[in-house]
Amino acid sequence: MEKERVIIIGSGPAGLTAAIYAARANLRPLVLAGGLYGGQLMLTTEVENFPGFPAGILGPDLMATFREQAERFGARIFDVDATSVDFAGRPLVVRTDDAAYETQTAIVATGASARWLGVPGEELLRGRGVSTCATCDGAFFKEKHIVVAGGGDSAMEEALFLTRFGRRVTVVHRRDSLRASKIMAERAMANPVIDFIWNTVVERVLGNEHVTGLRLRNVLDESLYDFDCDALFVAVGHTPNTAIFRGRLDLDELGYIRSPDGTTTSAEGVFVAGDVFDHRYRQAITAAGSGCRAAMDAERYLEALDFAAPAPTNVAARR
Ligand code: NDP
Repeated sequence: MEKERVIIIGSGPAGLTAAIYAARANLRPLVLAGGLYGGQLMLTTEVENFPGFPAGILGPDLMATFREQAERFGARIFDVDATSVDFAGRPLVVRTDDAAYETQTAIVATGASARWLGVPGEELLRGRGVSTCATCDGAFFKEKHIVVAGGGDSAMEEALFLTRFGRRVTVVHRRDSLRASKIMAERAMANPVIDFIWNTVVERVLGNEHVTGLRLRNVLDESLYDFDCDALFVAVGHTPNTAIFRGRLDLDELGYIRSPDGTTTSAEGVFVAGDVFDHRYRQAITAAGSGCRAAMDAERYLEALDFAAPAPTNVAARR
């Protein structure tokens, strides 16, 4: 089995930026991109806040440029999922359904997935009024009526951010009290643009071309009614994509990979980048930045390994 220098697991902005840097350092990285490469940006429409694209760019188009740039410098990108890892011994081992790869270093950049409500209409209208990212899509709803579903810190943060655009922001929450921290809850409740509908869940997203309203259900009396609005921001939490690392890397209580310094992990030679450890910023640009850092740290780690390794000349030749 040929030993890799760097295997990158994941192909969002973090993974592919790590691939660009590792490839330019002549490490010929192998990227296990997942069945659907590109990460969460493949689910968005217009990206207007990625520097370098003043006119905006479609999420999938942006990821195609990342991929092209990584491949140009020699990254090998396989559209397969990593299915298990063994980070306990040397070399590290990463497996897919069909193969096992030995590697000196690994960069984990598997991201996080926004949770959806799973109601009719939600998927159909994604990118046409339904979103999980106010920072990405809020500006499309200037002077509109926006609904945010959820009652945690993310929902409050999204609602507060969306008041910059919407003429009205309604938070729909399934209970009668918020999960959000007191300070965030108070800030949202004090904002005159934000109102709340309690004990209520979204049953269906209404609209054909774009969101025109929601069918809501009051969970106390089970009454159903239609509610006009122009957008639904779903903020019911994220799930880090760390199932295959459980028991292999230290995870925090929410399942995110723990990293003391933002690149290293509990396993030697294993580095981390992007939303799989960073649930604070969750932006393409911050993920890309952390991918760069992980690749540079992996490169330095390999340099130190090469330096420490015995010289390749054998004893007989030296005599
Ligand atoms: P949370 O898990 O904290 O909150 C999720 C919210 O969505 C809860 O109110 C939950 O309701 C609701 N919910 C979950 N599933 C459904 C569903 N199917 N239908 C309707 N509602 C649903 O996730 P967050 O993303 O808000 O936060 C994650 C972590 O990140 C937290 O620790 C948070 O503090 C932190 N964070 C901090 C921020 C900050 O400090 N600025 C900003 C954003 C996040 P219920 O309450 O009934 O369970």
